[in-house]
Formats: sequence, structure tokens, C-alpha cells
Amino acid sequence: MSVHPQPAPAIRAVPATTPFVAPEELARRVGRSTLVRLGANESAFGPSPKAIAAMQAALPLISHYADPESVDLRTALAARHGCKIENIVVGSGVDELLGLICRTYGALGDPVLMSHGSYATFAFQVRGHGLDLHTVPPFSDGGIDVEAMLVRARELQPKIVYLANPDNPSGTFIDGDAVARLRDGLPPDTLFVLDEAYADFVTIGSLLPPGIDERTIRLYTFSKMYGMAGARIGYALASRDAIATFQKIRNHFGVNRTAQIGALAALEDQAFAKHVVAEVVRGRDEYQAFAARIGVRTLPSQTNFVCFEVGTRQAAEAMMHALLERGVFVRKPGEPPINGFIRVTVGTPEERELFYEHFSAALDALRERVS
Ligand SMILES: *Cc1c(COP(=O)(O)O)cnc(C)c1O
Repeated sequence: MSVHPQPAPAIRAVPATTPFVAPEELARRVGRSTLVRLGANESAFGPSPKAIAAMQAALPLISHYADPESVDLRTALAARHGCKIENIVVGSGVDELLGLICRTYGALGDPVLMSHGSYATFAFQVRGHGLDLHTVPPFSDGGIDVEAMLVRARELQPKIVYLANPDNPSGTFIDGDAVARLRDGLPPDTLFVLDEAYADFVTIGSLLPPGIDERTIRLYTFSKMYGMAGARIGYALASRDAIATFQKIRNHFGVNRTAQIGALAALEDQAFAKHVVAEVVRGRDEYQAFAARIGVRTLPSQTNFVCFEVGTRQAAEAMMHALLERGVFVRKPGEPPINGFIRVTVGTPEERELFYEHFSAALDALRERVS
């Protein structure tokens, strides 16, 4: 038997899954060059024209490494969040920062807790770092059960508790009071990771008030409201000690120079950001009204997407495939109790019309097949 290098045991034990199949790959599978992209919660309203101009102007200096400390961007972010730049680390998206958090805080086999079926990339990072994922069932609408999370956290004494609020994939939101209750009820040495990727889209209720504490890391991205998913840039707010620890092991040149410059310009164009939120809220309301009109149940959403009920898990999967065949890319929650839903990003008015047309036709075909 030949001997050859083996990955570390913890990595060998990781199942070969990727959190998502990309729309480019799905398009190749159905022999299309493009899809109507309503599956990845990207912004249909693009980045700020000012961010585009700043990135274009920055391109000739792509021969330079970026400022590894992202000082210009962190200074602007600190002013925005009312904290110090020592409380901020920038990464190539929240997804990268989730990996950094797992690597920094988790030792092999440490327990980690999240709501069942919530953000798949966090679960992926937990497994990839050899940590032990535990989950608590959400409510029937996918909403987070804070009391159950607290009970489980006291039993488990997890190293990390993760909460996406608003949640992905359900779109549901819990008020700042409930988030504070969860944070304050955790064991004292548990790290609370609060992923607020969709915080900009919250229109009802209130977020956890701003503030830095030793036990909490809050995560934000330029991928959603700012429309810069392809630039790969996000950031974390945390205590000075946590940020100083990340500084020891993070990928210092991992954040694209052009992305940093674009993010700063995007941040400075709050008028455009406001316009995007208004468009998203309009589209979200329109999705809910469309669903009500055709008698389809939806989940409440405080994000840039809405979950539409199709039926069983199999029916929802069939719907996702039928839409793909028709050139429309959507995704669906993978876990019960909401795995009979599809998750649809708010598109432009034209994209929404296409979705209504194809969803209605595919729903008729599906119902005919069942009856
Ligand atoms: C989209 C999303 C992110 C953003 O990730 P990036 O890596 O910054 O693009 C983070 N968390 C959740 C829950 C999301 O849905």
C-alpha cells in the first residue's frame, strides 16, 4: 500500500459538502448562460455609483498591496458605529470572519450552539474547524426560540453561540430586548456572535443598541444593502482584546484594495443606501401581497428576501428545480420546519414580474402533478 500525506484527522472527518452551489454552476447544469438571480440575496439595486467611480479610479494602483490595517475604512466605520478603530476588524466578507472566529475561539471538539437550519455558512465553518455543532429547533415560522437557546446553552456550556438577526434563511427578526436577554443569559465564558448582515433592512422593532462588550462580536457586510457581494468585504465589532487577538492570526492582506476603497465610498453615500432600503421594502411588501393574492403562505421578513411556502420538502425542491429550468435561480431553507418553502431575494420590478409569472406557472404544473 502506498503511503502518502494525509490531511489532519479533524479535516478528514469533515463531510465533503459545500454550503451552496453557485448560480454559475446551476446555469451550466441547465445549459443557460445567465439566470434571473433571486437566490443569493445579492442586491438587485447594485452598488452606489460613487462606489463604482471610486473603484474604477483605484484600479491603476492594483499593483499595490492594500493598507493591511484598513485605517481609512475603519476610521469611517468607527465614526458610524460610535466606537474606536481598535474595536473593528475588516475581513473579506462575514463568511471569512466567521471562519476566523471559529479558529480563534474554538479548540477541536468544542461545542458551538446555533438555531437549527440558520445560516449554513456558519455551520460549514464550525465543522471545517473541527468544532462540535449543536442546534435548537426554531419556531414553526423559522423564528429563533431564545428561551430554548438559553436552556440549551446552560446545559452545553458552548464556546460560541451564534445568532443571525434578522435570520437567514427564514427572514425573521427578534427585537433587541430578546437579543440582550440571550446575550446576558449565556454562561460568562461563552462568546456571543451576532451576525447582523441584514440589520439595514429592519423596519419594525429595534436592533440591539450599539455598544462593545467583552463577550460579543457583531458582524456586518457590504454584500447586502451596499450591493458589493462580489467585492468580498465585511467587518466585525468587538472588544479591543478580541480585535488584538484576531490581529495575531488574521490574513493581513486578505482584503482587496479596490474593495476597501469602494466600501469607504459606499459608506459615504448614505442617500443611495437609503434608496436601496426603500426599494427593498417596496419589493418585500409586493412579494407578500402577491403571495396573499394567490393563496400562498409566506414567512415574515425583515431582510431583502421572502420565503414562500410550496408544501413538502420534496415539493419545494421540485419548485426550485422547475424555476431553474425556467431560468430563475432561487434557494430554499434546508431544514425543517421551513424546508417546504423557497427563499426569494427581492429583485428589481422587472425581475419580480418574471418571478410571479414563472412561479405561478410552475405552481400550477406542480399541483396538477400532485392531483
Ligand atoms: C449574506 C450573509 C452574510 C454575508 O456574508 P459575506 O461573506 O459578507 O458576503 C453573512 N451572514 C448572513 C446570515 C448572510 O445571509
